[in-house]
Amino acid sequence: MKEIKKLGIMGGTFNPIHIGHLAMAEEIRKRFNLNKVLFVPTGNPPHKKIDSLASTEDRYMMTILATISNKDFLVSDIEIKRKGTSYTIDTIKQLREEYTESEIYFITGADAILEIETWKNTQELLNICNFIATTRPRYDVEELLSRIKKLEEKYERKISLLSIVPLDISSTDIRNRLKGGKTIKYMVPDSVIDYINKRNIYK
Ligand code: NAP
Repeated sequence: MKEIKKLGIMGGTFNPIHIGHLAMAEEIRKRFNLNKVLFVPTGNPPHKKIDSLASTEDRYMMTILATISNKDFLVSDIEIKRKGTSYTIDTIKQLREEYTESEIYFITGADAILEIETWKNTQELLNICNFIATTRPRYDVEELLSRIKKLEEKYERKISLLSIVPLDISSTDIRNRLKGGKTIKYMVPDSVIDYINKRNIYK
């Protein structure tokens, strides 16, 4: 059992992780008074085929490199190690066994959370942890709020929407920049850039 009162779980593909994710995690940690944020890179994402998806091991390594300097950030290989399709309900249940005393907050992009009805065991998932949906600057917040409100009413659970996003950076944009030979300096930590170059990822 690990004694962390409020634990954020930052779930995402992190293909690659960038400073938008890091700034977001830190902002949420402060706003929600979370003691730690645990980054959980996805194993095999359930829903989609992604263009230029780096291996699970590389995404995990890049997440470690990016977060290592923040004492309040942790990284889990729980989904990386799991065989087969990775479902959030299984991850949360497994983490509940490890962090028995913690209140858990699952953090991810609002567009992902809006699809939550297609995820495995939606009601149970909403019952066993809190959800924080995050947005990018160009999203229509009113539209997001109204869709989230419908989910809240249907499942009788609160979903927090954080609409102030520190940085407008996306993994897709970073992959495109790398393919186009453009710089990603100051968008991704230097250690992650070195790793990408050394392993020749996203070429
Ligand atoms: P994704 O492709 O990594 O992200 C979707 C969108 O949200 C992208 O715009 C992404 O930006 C952004 N994003 C990703 N992680 C974020 C984070 N932690 N905070 C803020 N924004 C974030 O994600 P996904 O594959 O849809 O999955 C997101 C999470 O939901 C994962 O943990 C996944 O396992 C879970 N999920 C579970 C199920 C299920 O259980 N059936 C189904 C779908 C998703 P970037 O591209 O810049 O990262």
